[in-house]
Amino acid sequence: MRRPVRTCVVCRTARPQDALLRVVAAGAELVVDPGSRRGGRGAYLCPRPACLQGAGARDGAVLRRALRRPDLEVGPALAELRATHGDATDGATAP
Ligand SMILES: [Zn+2]
Repeated sequence: MRRPVRTCVVCRTARPQDALLRVVAAGAELVVDPGSRRGGRGAYLCPRPACLQGAGARDGAVLRRALRRPDLEVGPALAELRATHGDATDGATAP
């Protein structure tokens, strides 16, 4: 049995679906969808700081495009993901 493969919308790397984070549009906001329980169009991101940062670039342009939602509010969901997977704990490059 083959595992489904998805592509990160930021770095375009194909990975097994369960190795990526799924996000979906719910109303006006982006939400994290652990376990892929929500229906509808989803987007996938690698659980690493570089991709989470890329997803937030230009106010979430890449996610807005992937989800076909130009009005989408991506900030809260990305902040949540970065807190879990991301750069908040990596303060090694202090001035
Ligand atoms: Zn990626």
